[in-house]
Amino acid sequence: MIDKFYKGTNNNALFVTSFCSNRCVMCCQPPLTEENQAELYDRNIKLIASADSDTDYVCITGGEPTLIGERLFEYMNKIWKQMPHCCIHLLSNGRSFSKPKYIERFYEETKSHLVIGIPLHSDNYLDHDLIAGSKGAFYETIKGLHNLGVLGYEIELRVVILKQNYKRLDKIAEFIIHNLPFVSQVSFMGLEVVGNAYGNFSKVWVEYAEFRSILERAVFLLDSCKIQVRIFNIPHCCLPISLWTFSCKSISEWKKTNTKVCNKCVYIEDCCGIFSTSKYISSEIKPIVYK
Ligand code: SF4
Ligand code: SF4
Repeated sequence: MIDKFYKGTNNNALFVTSFCSNRCVMCCQPPLTEENQAELYDRNIKLIASADSDTDYVCITGGEPTLIGERLFEYMNKIWKQMPHCCIHLLSNGRSFSKPKYIERFYEETKSHLVIGIPLHSDNYLDHDLIAGSKGAFYETIKGLHNLGVLGYEIELRVVILKQNYKRLDKIAEFIIHNLPFVSQVSFMGLEVVGNAYGNFSKVWVEYAEFRSILERAVFLLDSCKIQVRIFNIPHCCLPISLWTFSCKSISEWKKTNTKVCNKCVYIEDCCGIFSTSKYISSEIKPIVYK
């Protein structure tokens, strides 16, 4: 956990709650039903107050941040007051935005730079709800996305690649093109094997080789429709060369590591690396060398 915010990094994160309305099969920080909100609040307020005014990025995460009610707006407004040019990246499952009263209130309180990251697990409700561990999640998330889209919010749609959805990555891309073309970015994400993803490892993990070509199809479909697309948390050596240009150095510095073989790799500076927190490292990770 970080103890200070810094400028020019994507490592700044405010953990605001462990509560969540989903129970995702691969959640890296599984939700709790009880927590000490007062303790979290004190810590977060101190973190915001100690930040430099030129801090440019803070991620608000959980759990599901929209479940803490007015306190979320208090955090956001304190961040913008202390750091006027800060972009807040709010990670949410999107369900609260389906509720008219909530979205109205949210709109009143959020006028500065905000990007909302929302996961979409599938192009159909059966798979999405199964992965989210909650009946009705898909329809609420889609409705929430449309409400946010109508109000012009910047939305990052996140697709975590799992055994349950990898065969439909191209269908998910088509679904986005037809139903959610207003999103600012689609991020395909490799799995961090921790929390539920570790507990449910055999149910959720799929080797990179299994989904490489279908991911390539999905990425090019979105790209051909001028929807910005990025790949997170998948090392260069596990992607086809055609996708390297879409790949981001996405793993936060404090969570990033390399394996022994990476020292021989010519792409060590460009690749996202590996989660130091992950309890599984794929045998597909091999150094890229000049011939
Ligand atoms: S929505 Fe996010 S926090 Fe909630 S269970 Fe799913 S992965 Fe975990
Ligand atoms: S070998 Fe290591 S540094 Fe090279 S691409 Fe793979 S993970 Fe990245």
